[in-house]
Amino acid sequence: MLPEALYKWRMDMINIAVDGPAGAGKSTIAKMVAKDLDYIYVDTGAMFRAIGLYMIRKGVDLSDEQGISLAVEEADVDLRYIDGVQCVFLNGSNVNDMIRTDEVSDAASKVAVVPAVRSKMLKLQRNIASGNNVIMDGRDIGSKVLPDADLKIYLTASVEERARRRYKENIEKGLKCDLETIKAEIKERDHRDMTRQEAPLVRVDDARLVDSSDMTIEEAVRTIEDMIDEVVGSRQ
Ligand code: C5P
Repeated sequence: MLPEALYKWRMDMINIAVDGPAGAGKSTIAKMVAKDLDYIYVDTGAMFRAIGLYMIRKGVDLSDEQGISLAVEEADVDLRYIDGVQCVFLNGSNVNDMIRTDEVSDAASKVAVVPAVRSKMLKLQRNIASGNNVIMDGRDIGSKVLPDADLKIYLTASVEERARRRYKENIEKGLKCDLETIKAEIKERDHRDMTRQEAPLVRVDDARLVDSSDMTIEEAVRTIEDMIDEVVGSRQ
């Protein structure tokens, strides 16, 4: 990995960091904000999902940190924007349609605890942010990836509300599921993301809290856009 000093940030770029637990609406909301403001939306979870998919395909034991550290060297993850949509490429193939399964979600959060995986993703994430106006979502964006972001947001919602949303999504997709199981999976993933040693999910002191439990998507989008207006306005 390049030493931090080698990253040359273009000072006129605006970097917005959005962190929070799974299912809080980060990607839906950040995507809409990016479209309205003509920023690039960077879904960092998709990168970890691509690595998770790679490990599943390779048959790497997801509890074998050393095996994952070795295998990740051969996994080339790249983000490209096709018609304004973020597409994640794994070793040259677009895997966008393959990374949203429960199996890949679980694998993503397991590989995300491995330092070699995180440092590879960090480099890629910083490269994108250094040359673009971005709204980047993840778990450690404000704390680790973009500690100097113009605005940091911690977007959350109650476990019950997040489980209810996921349940509704699955039912709409025609998938069989059970609300209590989803709730348990969300709790387990939160726990793993918040207690891991490497870059755990935390709300940093300078992050502004947005709790979307009782908000519509449009309300959350407006709240965040107002915050961005405030910081961008104060830079001019
Ligand atoms: O955001 P999403 O649910 O797609 O992320 C999948 C998994 O990737 C998360 O559960 C988390 O473990 C990991 N992740 C991470 N750091 C990020 C983004 C995602 O560790 N910046």
